[in-house]
Amino acid sequence: MSYERDNVRRMAGYVYGEQPQDPDTVKLNTNENPYPPSPAVADVIRSFDVDTLRRYPPATADPFRRLVAERFGVATDQVVATNGGDEALRLAITTFVDPGATFGTTEPGYSLCPVLANAQDCAVIRLELGPDWSLPCDFAGRMNAAGARLTCLVNPHAPSGALVDAATIAGVAEELDGVLLVDEAYVDFVDPDLGHDLTTLLASNDNVLLLRTLSKGYSLAGLRVGFLLGAANLVDPILTKTRDSYNVDTLAQVVAEAAFGDRGYAERGWRAVREERRRLAVALDKLGFAVPDSQSNFVLAEAPPDVSAHALFMRLRERGIVVRHFDTPRLANCLRITVGTAWENEVLLTAIGEVMRGPRCNS
Ligand SMILES: *Cc1c(COP(=O)(O)O)cnc(C)c1O
Repeated sequence: MSYERDNVRRMAGYVYGEQPQDPDTVKLNTNENPYPPSPAVADVIRSFDVDTLRRYPPATADPFRRLVAERFGVATDQVVATNGGDEALRLAITTFVDPGATFGTTEPGYSLCPVLANAQDCAVIRLELGPDWSLPCDFAGRMNAAGARLTCLVNPHAPSGALVDAATIAGVAEELDGVLLVDEAYVDFVDPDLGHDLTTLLASNDNVLLLRTLSKGYSLAGLRVGFLLGAANLVDPILTKTRDSYNVDTLAQVVAEAAFGDRGYAERGWRAVREERRRLAVALDKLGFAVPDSQSNFVLAEAPPDVSAHALFMRLRERGIVVRHFDTPRLANCLRITVGTAWENEVLLTAIGEVMRGPRCNS
């Protein structure tokens, strides 16, 4: 006897990136930050008064929301804190897409989104990105024609690392009938020289939500804190209705405040990631890989035609180096590689060089 809703029985769950337990593994598969969180995090945990756990947390995480609002020059009622960015995606779908209505995104895109949409019993439309990972032409018009109530764009994009510029995003937001959620999980790693900033859209567009997370940019994937920025009309139903009443726990709130407050520390990490990203891309290019420009903390490396990315993935794995391989037609000959520490990147590059010089890597 099955008690699940039909849509839940039919759907497949999210496939997690592997989390190897061996501490010696060079883990470059799930885009975590290679550096530890700010020392302010350790300080706040050490001095945390355990007795406060008797009580419920501040329900809407106001001290953290105020800090976020101040940073981005928006009002506090334009911010909602969430249990990681993933909860923010689920809340956006629950709040803005009726069961049976349509959720829109790109292919490839963040594979969690269709899973969340299936759980809400929504239809999913995925528009294929161009050969250079750009948005397909008439993206917003096609989403409107499909009746998309909510459209999600990951920007910088995963798994390519490509960045869509602010003017293009503004045009999409302008034209869409529904809500546009820009998943900015990796935006902290964008080169500041590009002057990329979507927060200015929030004042002019009442259908734009920006998703941020502390998981990548602030080295806190284990903590589970993210937030949404948007016009108050979008944030309010999430803040006051669809969110769990205490969705961010007390410890997570104080740690998030400490990490987010130490921006200088986080920025030094972002700069180091950008420098290593460039070094990794140049070295992979020399080894014959095609590496599109990444504004993220990973690179997508397309293997040379005579090399099988899957075989290379397996050989690296045997050596304790874990990267990500996606078994889809478009990505089958690519590896997505998280930018690690200088040492980790060196270990990876040395191993790739050795494997490629060894017996042919084409099985
Ligand atoms: C990491 C990530 C998120 C959010 O992750 P959380 O750990 O839940 O904050 C959202 N979108 C994409 C594309 C990501 O890679």
